[in-house]
Amino acid sequence: MWERTINEKSLTNYPVDKEQIEKDLKDVEALQLVNENSKNQPYIEVIEITKVYKYNPAFGDGRICECGHEYYRHFDTYEDMYPTSCKYCGCSGFEEKKEEK
Ligand SMILES: [Zn+2]
Ligand SMILES: [Zn+2]
Repeated sequence: MWERTINEKSLTNYPVDKEQIEKDLKDVEALQLVNENSKNQPYIEVIEITKVYKYNPAFGDGRICECGHEYYRHFDTYEDMYPTSCKYCGCSGFEEKKEEK
């Protein structure tokens, strides 16, 4: 279910349970994994996992939102497709418009 985006070796010392992380992230925006071996050290070693929502290039730029604007317009093309709200009307998030029959 999770796609690995960092080298798994860096997580060896952490009690990582991907299913648990997924569960925990349902209610919070970020998680911290603390390396137990670092607790008496001057710097605690922490891995932070943050839940973010990103542009999906495979979704289809031209799909239409409830607000009437296209999918890609809900992102900032100058800021690495940062998920802004719709730049044209302030719609808070893309919600695909249902086809009218
Ligand atoms: Zn919209
Ligand atoms: Zn809009």
